[in-house]
Amino acid sequence: MATYTAPINDMMFLFEKLRDNKDYNDLEKYKEVNGDLAKDILEQAAKITENIILPLAKVGDETPTKFENGVVITPPGYKEAYKKFIEDGWTSLSCDPEYGGQGMPKTISVFFDEMLSSASLSFKLYSELSIGAYNCILHHGTDSIKKKFLPNMVKGIWSGTMCLTEPVCGTDLGLLKTKATEQPNGTFKLTGQKIFITSGDHDLTENIIHLVLARIADEPTGTKGISLFLVPKIEVKESGSLGQRNGVSTGSIESKMGIKGSATCVLNFDGANGYMIGPKNKGLSSMFTMMNLERIVVGIQGLGISEIAYQNALNYSKERKQGKSNNSKSTNDADVIIDHADIRRSLLNMKSMIEGERALSFWLAQQTEVSLYHNDSKIKQQASDLVSLMTPVVKSLFTDVGMEITSDAMQIFGGYGYTKDQGIEQLYRDNRITPIYEGTNSIQAIDLVFRKLINKNGNIISNYIQLIKEDIKKNEKNEKTKLFAKTLDHYLKILIDFTDWIEKNIKNSKDDVSAACNDYLKVLGLVAVGYSWLKVLDISYKEMENNKIFFEDKIETAKFFFDRILPRIDTHYKSGISGSKNIMNFKFN
Ligand SMILES: Cc1cc2nc3c(=O)[nH]c(=O)nc-3n(C[C@H](O)[C@H](O)[C@H](O)COP(=O)(O)OP(=O)(O)OC[C@H]3O[C@@H](n4cnc5c(N)ncnc54)[C@H](O)[C@@H]3O)c2cc1C
Repeated sequence: MATYTAPINDMMFLFEKLRDNKDYNDLEKYKEVNGDLAKDILEQAAKITENIILPLAKVGDETPTKFENGVVITPPGYKEAYKKFIEDGWTSLSCDPEYGGQGMPKTISVFFDEMLSSASLSFKLYSELSIGAYNCILHHGTDSIKKKFLPNMVKGIWSGTMCLTEPVCGTDLGLLKTKATEQPNGTFKLTGQKIFITSGDHDLTENIIHLVLARIADEPTGTKGISLFLVPKIEVKESGSLGQRNGVSTGSIESKMGIKGSATCVLNFDGANGYMIGPKNKGLSSMFTMMNLERIVVGIQGLGISEIAYQNALNYSKERKQGKSNNSKSTNDADVIIDHADIRRSLLNMKSMIEGERALSFWLAQQTEVSLYHNDSKIKQQASDLVSLMTPVVKSLFTDVGMEITSDAMQIFGGYGYTKDQGIEQLYRDNRITPIYEGTNSIQAIDLVFRKLINKNGNIISNYIQLIKEDIKKNEKNEKTKLFAKTLDHYLKILIDFTDWIEKNIKNSKDDVSAACNDYLKVLGLVAVGYSWLKVLDISYKEMENNKIFFEDKIETAKFFFDRILPRIDTHYKSGISGSKNIMNFKFN
């Protein structure tokens, strides 16, 4: 079984030292949240993830969720662990106190999301979609809907789902067929089939609150005629108590490559009673409240799985002896494999990406809070635009890097990684869904390039580039960090050139731009991680005296990132601007 120790030191370093966002520090809501509180929460979070949730990863993989006589049964131990999980209040961590939540900021919950993803993605998904559904209802539900449904979702005794996908409708939601028919009392009856629904049915909670996209009869075809509905598995009476079973049934569950403890369900809606959430025909934009936050969380899933893969590869490489290293002084027949340059390179690839991504995700968590709660509407909007720009980047980059890291970790284990005993191949299989769900990574790249760079509020990418320029300028005057700043400036210029190329071609050479989207996302993502490293470096040199070992480690890791990871940008840029003729004219005979 893979082992795991929550990286609290790194998380606390970010929480204490990287809250450099002056606007974030202005948030009245979090004035009381300090380092001691964060540390206490993270230590408790580490206990439950390391001791109770981590062992469920192997159990869920070997004894997957079952579907028997119309009932979904989660793997052994899930029920007991979930009971403890909700008794300890983990579902309510970041929820609004008005509905029973603890009101903790994303700058703390982002770390808990990472720990849970490291320990067991399958187990995490049962509560993850509930938080997504909670957020959607919080932003778009009426007061009476919120009062009726949110408190039990916050407690975790009811869970939530997100029902978009249908057999012929995956990426293209305009093809959606599920019908909603209005009733005289203003509620709706829903009929249709949804597939691939995460936590669509299970035995962990008393009720499941489905958020379902459907089309009201006679409304326009395509995405314009889609509305959002809340459909409980079991009806809820006016008093709040549970009534009879609603017209939602589980057709089957999927047998999958990974996340086998997570129930992925076919749900049949046969005249199920539902309530409209948000305005008629604006269902997609309401659902996007849930999807955008979810996309960031899926990126964090990639980061969490990368972390546990790295920890295990590092430990193994310190124990496994094979071959003599180039500069070996030992009299043993063989040295530990961590002495070999290529193994060290591979481990540093992982470490430098993981720590850079964690710093970036922390920055994004701060921006998210500012975008939700700042008093100044201009600052709020600027933060919201940055979050919107970086959402597809974090979702795609972190999950793609997760594939690279889980594969490299398996490589370090050699044949013992490919076989089941060490739990490494499971990490690769579990992570494989993350570049697919919540909008595939290709769709994220298209979204970034065609919709997020420039919006009605202006040139968002230029604003982000300006932020980076300011920090580069500041660091160019700093003896210790100026070389890093210079290197980042070089790659920032490539990002600027690539952005200009996109802007020049986006109207008249759409195929060229479509073919370049993935490369562009990688360039922006790597610059963003490099920018996060520059902030970390600035602090590391200043704080060196306080914790030499920790900060030297940071500086050496950053050096590797600047020397060996950032140059990937050159290849992405060259490949990206090579045009699409060679692609679009190719005959796949
Ligand atoms: C384990 C699991 C859990 C899931 N959980 C949920 C859930 O809780 N709720 C839910 O609603 N759905 C869920 N899904 C569905 C998931 O979100 C979809 O599988 C995903 O969005 C892709 O849709 P699709 O599978 O139909 O692929 P398709 O849309 O058919 O795409 C196939 C390929 O074509 C590419 N493609 C499609 N359109 C374009 C385009 N315009 N330009 C370029 N390339 C394109 C895609 O990137 C992909 O590579 C889940 C799926 C799985 C496997």
